Amino acid sequence: MPSLLIHNIGAIATGDLAEPLRNETTLYVEDGLIKEIGTSRETADTVIDAQGLTLTPGLIDGHVHPVFGEFTPTQNSVGWQRFYMHGGTTSMISAGELHVPGLPLDPPDPKTFKYLAVLSLRCNSKAQVYGPKMTTGTLLLAPGLKEADFAEVAAEGSRCVKFIFYPLMAPWDEALQYVEWAHKYGLTVKLHSGGVSRSGSSRPAGSEVVLRLKPDVVAHISGGPIPMPKEEMEQIVANSKSFMEICTSGNYLRTVELIEMAKRYNALDRVVMGTDTPGGTGIQPRGMLRNMCLISALGKIAPEQAIAIATGNTARAHNLPQGIIAVDRPADLILMGAIRGSVARTALESISVGDLPGISTVVVDGQVVIKDRSEQTPPPSSLAKTTHVHFCGD
Ligand SMILES: [Zn+2]
Repeated sequence: MPSLLIHNIGAIATGDLAEPLRNETTLYVEDGLIKEIGTSRETADTVIDAQGLTLTPGLIDGHVHPVFGEFTPTQNSVGWQRFYMHGGTTSMISAGELHVPGLPLDPPDPKTFKYLAVLSLRCNSKAQVYGPKMTTGTLLLAPGLKEADFAEVAAEGSRCVKFIFYPLMAPWDEALQYVEWAHKYGLTVKLHSGGVSRSGSSRPAGSEVVLRLKPDVVAHISGGPIPMPKEEMEQIVANSKSFMEICTSGNYLRTVELIEMAKRYNALDRVVMGTDTPGGTGIQPRGMLRNMCLISALGKIAPEQAIAIATGNTARAHNLPQGIIAVDRPADLILMGAIRGSVARTALESISVGDLPGISTVVVDGQVVIKDRSEQTPPPSSLAKTTHVHFCGD
């Protein structure tokens, strides 16, 4: 039963919006799960002296587009998932494996999309050796799917379906039936919102579609890349219960406005986060960190709230157990701090002034996967010290 003890923690940002900060300085993990927050234990198989750094949950990128394992033909790049882990992302949720070269989209074909989801699930479960936890096999919706198709992809391990190439127009019966079937089989319904995507084949969708279909997650509500009009965004904040996703690929002004609206309507608990990459926006290992800086510094929310949006909120929207620092939750953790030269003294201060924080250590399921410093951020001014390590990368 491998154990991990972290001591000398400067602050804990929990990822839980209801209680986003705790001031314990120690944390104990056993068998991949958080067991004690504040502990008198002095030893474990692995001991990390956090050197006063801030402990947060691993970031959850709620909107990625994997293709073939670590290779993405979108930007002809390989290794992107591991790079993202060095940007603090420990979990990723596919918003559709739709960048397969030559994937026929017009008209959207139910058989192609179902096979794509199944193939992706079967390949990605084997391809992953060292990187974030991947949730793949998102079923792209097309007219003509049957209930048995939803049951089949769910049985294969799919967790999400997405309206993007589906013709969003009357009659609505089939689309509404899809939402019902998805929920019956435990699948999260995501809707591409705003203007058309890079493919040119997606359908614009604003508040009318969102309020009619009631998806679980309104993907990139503030643009990915093109947002719906501001008034329609406000309709959704005010009148829906859907989670509202902000993405690196979006419109920065609308993203800040969305945060302001969410504060005004007391809806910060429905804001979730992703990068919507790889794609035309590129490959963005620091995308989640930059999103947190943007919404805290310009949206004027506390840094621990921005962290909760990037972790606990996004996990809740997708029914994942990770994303909050609480007893019996998966120990997916980051130690981060201010980068030397920043006006900030801590990671939380960095995020609140819009300065990128530096990552020292990343833990996934209680295993130290990045032990000295991130390859993708400058180092924080102090680095955690890890001893007795079973290091996955060795
Ligand atoms: Zn996308």
